[in-house]
Amino acid sequence: MFIYTDIVADFACEMCGTCCSNHWQVTLDETSYRRNQALFGSAGRQAEFDQAFIKLQEAAGYGEYAYIAKQDGGSCWFLDNSNCCRLHKEAGHHHLDAVCQTYPRYPMSSSRGIELTLSFSCPAVLKLADREQPIAIIKEKQPPTIFPEKNYAVEVYPQQHRPWEPLYYYFELETHFIDILQCRNLKIEERLAFLAEIVRGINSLPQDETIGRELTALFNHNYDFMDKLATDKPAEKLEQGSFLLENFLVNFIFRKPFYIYGFEKTLQLLTNMWQQINNSPNIAAAIIQIELQYGHDRQSLLRK
Ligand code: SF4
Ligand code: SF4
Repeated sequence: MFIYTDIVADFACEMCGTCCSNHWQVTLDETSYRRNQALFGSAGRQAEFDQAFIKLQEAAGYGEYAYIAKQDGGSCWFLDNSNCCRLHKEAGHHHLDAVCQTYPRYPMSSSRGIELTLSFSCPAVLKLADREQPIAIIKEKQPPTIFPEKNYAVEVYPQQHRPWEPLYYYFELETHFIDILQCRNLKIEERLAFLAEIVRGINSLPQDETIGRELTALFNHNYDFMDKLATDKPAEKLEQGSFLLENFLVNFIFRKPFYIYGFEKTLQLLTNMWQQINNSPNIAAAIIQIELQYGHDRQSLLRK
């Protein structure tokens, strides 16, 4: 089964070159390194290979063997003047390393199947997500797009938790958190405050055989509350950027931070992100910055 945010199917790269001009290192595994060595060697371009592909001195993260050098000015070695990838042109998409083949897609492996969304650090994704229509989560037997297999950012298997732990019910929690973030009878900051209250409530439930019942009761109570809001209170007149912000937050929760970092740390992450957004005059620029931090310098976002 494939579970994905509906924007995934609509994504098309606009060749803006942003992702190939960032300061982060594009790393590759040994197989990809050898594949390029064979390509450049057979074309008599060993000298260029040696300049473009730099072996890492020490073991880096899992599967990281080398990185691609930068041009003066910081763009990737292979980015040409028209923002096209020379490696892609020469050898095809399948030849690229997993990072370049995957970005901005964000694949995750879970007990439900393969889950997929997009990184909001890509300007084309931001454009797609800046819409009034709430993000929907789709479940299909067929994948919405082609992406490399077995290159998952996250692995989510809630049943590895004990049945009295809240994370055992992770998927039910995720759906509920997304419903709260999409409650348009509340302002965005009110939704975040409501979410924080509910998360803390869940975290303090007794961890025993009653937890499943307690969660169902809590969810029902919250849905009654949100239904009443919808009846009693007209939908909030949302400020500019609110739809993008809502879709960004929903997408962020779908990337499973509550599962990876736990409840308190994720609330801290959300608080830090919200502060950054409030301190920025430009919501889209703040979201891109946060996404880059989340992808490449997560500790700076997790700090209090
Ligand atoms: S940032 Fe997005 S739109 Fe721009 S080149 Fe990269 S994938 Fe394509
Ligand atoms: S190898 Fe190509 S796709 Fe990957 S970062 Fe460099 S220019 Fe971009």
